[in-house]
Formats: sequence, structure tokens, C-alpha cells
Amino acid sequence: MRSLKPLFDRNKIWSAEITAQDPEFFAKLVGQQSPDYLWIGCADSRVPANEIVGLLPGELFVHRNVANVVVHTDLNCLSVLQYAVDVLDVEHVIVCGHYGCGGVQAALNNSRLGLIDNWLRHVQDVMKKHHSRLDELPDEASRLHRLCELNVMEQVLNVGQTTIVQSAWDRGKALEIHGWIYDLHDGLLKDLSVCVKSAAEFAEVYRQVAESA
Ligand SMILES: [Zn+2]
Repeated sequence: MRSLKPLFDRNKIWSAEITAQDPEFFAKLVGQQSPDYLWIGCADSRVPANEIVGLLPGELFVHRNVANVVVHTDLNCLSVLQYAVDVLDVEHVIVCGHYGCGGVQAALNNSRLGLIDNWLRHVQDVMKKHHSRLDELPDEASRLHRLCELNVMEQVLNVGQTTIVQSAWDRGKALEIHGWIYDLHDGLLKDLSVCVKSAAEFAEVYRQVAESA
């Protein structure tokens, strides 16, 4: 007996619905993918990348991890980024966090959850970098709200500092990095205004993030 049968049943329905709308949909995707965007987002089940921005399979290249962190020693994330930029030739990298992020909250509270604590040290680095302004906020909810935003901004900087992105800009490739945050309460995205599209702009955005805490 097949396990998790309800999921296979749903899969059949989904496939049939897509095919009914466009009989050639899957046939067209088999040959190649040519997404315009790379999405780096949180693994949270409430933040499904394609659905949020209304894109179909084939239109969004996706990397997700807990708290949407970009670490310079993470071969997984860097490989996704390099493949997206150099092979798929995407022109937009979107780092998208979300308010109420459990990973960010655990980092803020210094929670002990296990192995994940080591991963969340990267978010704690963001917290420590901006601690003076965060400490001025009136309550924990405000601090969590702001740290979710700051974490996205810092990950935009991390993307921009990779050799992958720096090399792409050096050779004149069109490539923009965006920092967005998603609100679980209304399903809406907010642009955090840290868009950067060249090495020259990067220094300005870096300063902007440092001062925005
Ligand atoms: Zn999250």
C-alpha cells in the first residue's frame, strides 16, 4: 500500500488541473527551465515561494532554509546562487524573510532547540551587530519585527559580497538583489528598499543597512 496516499491523490488532481488549463504545460517544461528569478526564502511552511508571487513551476528558482540565511561557507546555498546566476542567467535574486519567523525568534530569545542553534548563530550575529538600536525598542514584539527585517537586509549584503555576484557585476551582467519581507497576517510582501544592482551601489546600500538599525 502506498504511504501518504492523500498527497498522491492531491498530486493527481493538481496535474490534471494544470493539464486542463494548458495541455502542453508539462511538455514545455521538460525541455528546459528558464526562470527569471532566484528566491532565497525561509523554510517556513507558511511562506510558499511560488504561490506568494503567483508564479508557475518553471518561473522561480528556489532555495529555502531556516531564517533565509546566506552563509559564505554554505556550499548548498552558494551552489544554487552560482547555478542561477551563471547557468540559468537569472537577473534578479530575491531574499525574502517573513515577520514572525520562528528561527529569528529563537535567535532573539537565545533558545536551546538543538543543532539548529548553531545555524541560528548567524541570525544572532545580525542581532549583535544591531543590538544598540534593537535594545531601544519598547518590547520583544518590536524587536522581533525589526530583527526579521534586519536579517533580510544583512542577507542581501551577504549575497552581494559573494564572488558569484561580484564577478557577475564585473563582467557587466545585469543582476539585481532585492530584500523583501512577507507578512503572515495579510499575505502581502513589503519591499525593504535595499535593492542593489551594481558594485558601485553596493557600498551605499551597505552604509544604509548599517545606519538603519
Ligand atoms: Zn521563518
